[in-house]
Amino acid sequence: MLELNNVEVIYDRVVLVLKGLSLRVPPHSIVALLGANGAGKTTTLKAISGLLQVERGRVTDGQITFQGKDITNWGPERIARLGIFHVLEGRHVFEHLTVEENLMAATCLRRDRSGIRKDLDKVFAYFPRLQELRHRVAGYLSGGEQQMLAIGRALMSRPQLILLDEPSLGLSPLLVGEIFRIVQEINRREQVTILVVEQNARVALEVADYAYIMENGRIVLEGEPRRLKENEDVREFYLGLTPEGRKHYREVKHYKRRKRWLS
Ligand code: ATP
Repeated sequence: MLELNNVEVIYDRVVLVLKGLSLRVPPHSIVALLGANGAGKTTTLKAISGLLQVERGRVTDGQITFQGKDITNWGPERIARLGIFHVLEGRHVFEHLTVEENLMAATCLRRDRSGIRKDLDKVFAYFPRLQELRHRVAGYLSGGEQQMLAIGRALMSRPQLILLDEPSLGLSPLLVGEIFRIVQEINRREQVTILVVEQNARVALEVADYAYIMENGRIVLEGEPRRLKENEDVREFYLGLTPEGRKHYREVKHYKRRKRWLS
């Protein structure tokens, strides 16, 4: 459905952030893009949704295709019309609008009023908490409720592909698990494809069908979650599991050890 081939991104004409990144997102799948702070995960999503332009960024090499169409450096509105919805990191709801108004605002490209009502009910079925809060001003919602609202807005646009930027940010582990469970349910039931960016590798690998790990603007490892979870480096550096035979991470200067995929 979505393919990035050797994509290079430069901000402000000089800051090279993506250095030949390639990945594929098959239809109806959940694909996770994992990596540490500053690896370029958010930039990857912005390159897809066209939001790079707003930040003086540009795809300077490579190609992004969606359903076979070359969408490289298209504007964000044109990309949204293809059915790609970007849920930004940090939620970004309209603080002064109510929950219901926020949800309705995401339907501005739609004309089917009865379909919109049905989808509103659907969002409330996935997130009953939002129904209870439907007349509450969004700025007063908790972080978790705002994340639910942000995902609910994506659903209201009847997307084909949702780009989900770090849904776990700032939420309690229990809530993170709950939100990812609902994301998985939405993917299965609505057949909507999801590309999720996460630092919380543990939870992302639970729900994803396939995952990529990126460092420093490049993909360094990819595979099915089951296989990635067996990889010693992933276990140590992304899942925080101490390898057998080591007593404590402080006792080994493991930060000096080069990860195998970089050597
Ligand atoms: P995090 O997990 O912390 O959100 P990330 O993997 O999403 O990190 P990006 O936000 O894509 O990483 O940032 C990658 C690099 O690009 C960083 O070094 C960042 O400073 C730089 N960068 C991001 N946005 C811009 C911008 N608008 N102008 C210049 N440099 C930028």
